[in-house]
Amino acid sequence: MYRKDLTNRKRIVVKIGTTSLTYPNGNINLRRFDRLASVLTDLKNSGKDIVLVSSGAIAVGAKRLGLKERPRDTVGKQASSAVGQAILMQYYEKSFNEFNQRVAQILVTKDIFGHRQKRTNVRNTFEKLLELGVIPIVNENDTVATDEFNEFSDNDTLASYVAELIKSDLLIILSDIDGMYTGDPNKNEEAELISIIENINEDIIRLAGGSASSFGTGGMATKVQAALRVTASNCDMVIAKGDDPYVIYSITSGQPIGTLFARKRYDG
Ligand code: GLU
Repeated sequence: MYRKDLTNRKRIVVKIGTTSLTYPNGNINLRRFDRLASVLTDLKNSGKDIVLVSSGAIAVGAKRLGLKERPRDTVGKQASSAVGQAILMQYYEKSFNEFNQRVAQILVTKDIFGHRQKRTNVRNTFEKLLELGVIPIVNENDTVATDEFNEFSDNDTLASYVAELIKSDLLIILSDIDGMYTGDPNKNEEAELISIIENINEDIIRLAGGSASSFGTGGMATKVQAALRVTASNCDMVIAKGDDPYVIYSITSGQPIGTLFARKRYDG
């Protein structure tokens, strides 16, 4: 029954990870950009507010700079991101333009969310862009996010902050794993996909933080933390595999795809 409720969600934040946007050799996966732009524009046209949180800047920048692998040091990541973010937006601009959809870039750091005035400024900008029919595309401002005080460890966390800030009612995390399992599916044949989690209890947190966290790049622990944040603020969260962005249609039409973390319901 609950899945059907997702058809009514009005303000959707979609997070897509680097592995869903690039091939293992670091090249851009054009089909995924185009399908993502198509489904998000279509949902926006149907009357929903859409915000995209996109990773990929570091990987795309490293590729453009001819680096053999993704840099591990902070300044290397920052330099790659500075190159890659512009390219990423160029691809988005082109893909969304195919569908006459305008996009905008919003880069944030963690400290903004704890600063009253800056938080208000960013929220007002989101509201204005959504009112103007634009799809904002968000990433961390990697070049200035250098320490534990202003750095998000990953874009799952960033997406949950954004969802909370703009009072989104559905957060979709597209990842390289199709949801949360009862164990590590790579090691345990009996591990089963959990379709719905209505209560993020200690067992779930332990499951996500243990050896199971090795499946998926951002890790399951950060996704469960993101779910804890958003489900407490009237927002559902779904984790699904991002290899075909059209999965977003299935999720928003209430099909049992991936893992749904249901929002807390206050029944009185
Ligand atoms: N901001 C990073 C990038 O654009 C991504 C962080 C993450 O993958 O979670 O490459």
